[in-house]
Amino acid sequence: TSLQELLLSRIKDVPDYPKPGIVFKDITPLLADSAAFTALTDAFAEICLRQGATKVVGLEARGFILAAPVAVRAGVGFVPVRKAGKLPGATLGQTYALEYGRAEVEIQANALTADDRVLMIDDVLATGGTAEASLELIRRAGAQVTGLAVLMELGFLDGRAKAEAALSGAPLEAL
Ligand code: 5GP
Repeated sequence: TSLQELLLSRIKDVPDYPKPGIVFKDITPLLADSAAFTALTDAFAEICLRQGATKVVGLEARGFILAAPVAVRAGVGFVPVRKAGKLPGATLGQTYALEYGRAEVEIQANALTADDRVLMIDDVLATGGTAEASLELIRRAGAQVTGLAVLMELGFLDGRAKAEAALSGAPLEAL
């Protein structure tokens, strides 16, 4: 579609970043282009409205940038999932495996209620580890997950299988 062409044209491949052998998908050209950023926001907001979400969860850090305007556009609240140690008050944490070592994400324990229906948004689905841990946090916080929407999935890493298992039937939309 033309939306896909527009978005792809604004994502830059950066070889050997952050490490040799990795091709990093740089979304800063997309963010700097008002037409592309608006088209992306509108597409995410349409998913949010279609799913009847009451909250948008964004994943630190690029997920914050993408999810916040979606929350405003769709008329729902924004809730952050952050790297461990950054959120005040009572939190829930979930650790997950990285290529080397482990990482931990957190959500505020009272950020969501049982009435909340949550659309989670991030920029890139790679191995699916971040998405899996964050979806688990949303469920542990007591809310229902309506779906996961990402700008882009890296198909060769098979993050979709891991994300879909964690979504247990809710849709994964990769724009
Ligand atoms: P995963 O946990 O699926 O392996 O990695 C996904 C997370 O790492 C996302 O939060 C995403 O922001 C980040 N990430 C991994 N690879 C890339 C990439 O090539 N480009 C960007 N922009 N983010 C990436």
